[in-house]
This record gives sequence, C-alpha cells and structure tokens, in this order.
Amino acid sequence: MNHEPSGEPLLTVEGLRKVYRTGPKEVVALRDVSFSVHPGELVAVRGRSGSGKTTLLNQVGGLDRPDAGRVVVAGNVVTDLPESELLRLRRDVIGFVFQSFGLIPVLSAAENVGVPMRLTRTPVAEREERIGVLLAMVGLEKHVNQRPYELSGGQQQRVAVARALANRPRLLIADEPTGQLDSGTGRQIMQLLRAVVRSEGVTALVATHDPALLTLADRVLELHDGALVPPRSPAEAIPST
Ligand code: ADP
Ligand code: MG
Repeated sequence: MNHEPSGEPLLTVEGLRKVYRTGPKEVVALRDVSFSVHPGELVAVRGRSGSGKTTLLNQVGGLDRPDAGRVVVAGNVVTDLPESELLRLRRDVIGFVFQSFGLIPVLSAAENVGVPMRLTRTPVAEREERIGVLLAMVGLEKHVNQRPYELSGGQQQRVAVARALANRPRLLIADEPTGQLDSGTGRQIMQLLRAVVRSEGVTALVATHDPALLTLADRVLELHDGALVPPRSPAEAIPST
C-alpha cells in the first residue's frame, strides 16, 4: 500500500474549529485540526465515540460550517462557498456514504444509483450504462431491480457506494460505513472502498472506530477530544489487545 504523495493535495484542512452551543453549554468538537490528503489516498479517521469524527467529515463535505479554519477540496474553498455552490460541490465533487446507507426505500438499487445523475441531467443512455458499470463493480449485477428492503445490509451499503461514485466525485467521504454491519461484512465493504479508490482514482476520507479496518487505509488520522493526535503509521495505530 505504498502511496507516494506528489503534487497538490486533493484535500486541505487548516485550523478547523467547531463549537456546539446548546443553551449555556459549549462543546468544542474540533480544536485546530489541520491535515492534507493527496490524490488517490484512502485516509481513515479513528477515535472513540464523541471524538469529533462526524463533525470533521461534515465540515469537510460542506454539510456544516466551522467556527474557524479552512477546507479546500479539489481547489474549491468549501468553507467560503455560498449554499448554492455547496449544493453543486456535494453533487459533482464529493460523494457521501453514511452508516445508515441512506437509500430511498421506494426506488430499486439501479434507481438509487441513478439519482445523482438525474440531478446532473446526465443523458438517459449514459446514465443507464454507468448504473450497470457501477452495480457490477460493487458485485450487485444480479440485484439491480431489488428495493433496499429486499437487500441485506451489506448489499445496501454496496448500492450506497455505487451511488456515491455515480457522478465521478474527486473525494469520497464515508462516516462509519461499516457501523451497522457485522465484522465480516464490514471488512468486505472496506475492501470494496479500498478497491474503488484504486479503480476510480478517487480519494477517500473514512471515519471508523473499528481497529480491524484501519489496516486497509494508507494513513490513519486519530482524533482525541476534537484534536488530532500526532500521526503514527497504520501498523502502530492498531492496539495490541
Ligand atoms: P464522533 O462522530 O466521533 O462520535 P461527533 O462529531 O458526533 O463525534 O461529536 C463530537 C462532539 O460534539 C461530541 O461531544 C458530541 O456530543 C458533540 N456534538 C455533535 N453534534 C452536536 C450537535 N449537533 N449539537 C451539540 N453537540 C454536538
Ligand atoms: Mg460519528
């Protein structure tokens, strides 16, 4: 898994700070978080529950705004963009995979994968072809017409990965994509992410607190109480217990 960083980073995060205020209470969810990710890297974000993983991914993906700091994705200064431009960014530049899959229940696997391409008005023939390629890539060519409730959790997450890749995003953001799956299925999903990062030339930022999955990452970032712990290699990041 050698990856030689070269050229411009695909993602740059500088001095990110996020404070949640609920009434008189303040929670500092991110403290001066800075890092960069190079094109083609699969970077895992680890840290226990409440350490700020989701908050970080949401600021990077333009789903929320930080109190301070800057996020740049493929030359787009996410933290400066108006809402209309954020919509475009989330449609064209960033693909999201969530813990709970987030598929539309009334749509088939193929239709779910087609949704982002409808939003970009991709011509029907091209859309159909891309759906076929993507569902084959995630190993679901025999399940294209099934609805989410007719699929296993692992299969639903495969559909979600295919959907996230539909518009050929530069950055794939996955927030605990294996959190609702058993460990074997979870590992298969991580292996799938590992494979698509290579084959699609996409860059990925994946939050997980599952130590077994961290070995598949090129690099592991660790959050503790909203702050990044100084980097270690993936091998060292695996607890010996
Ligand atoms: P993780 O994804 O690592 O479990 P989160 O980013 O969800 O961590 O949460 C980081 C901290 O911010 C936690 O203390 C959490 O309680 C707090 N937090 C997250 N979202 C909100 C919110 N919408 N309002 C208030 N506090 C929040
Ligand atoms: Mg979370």
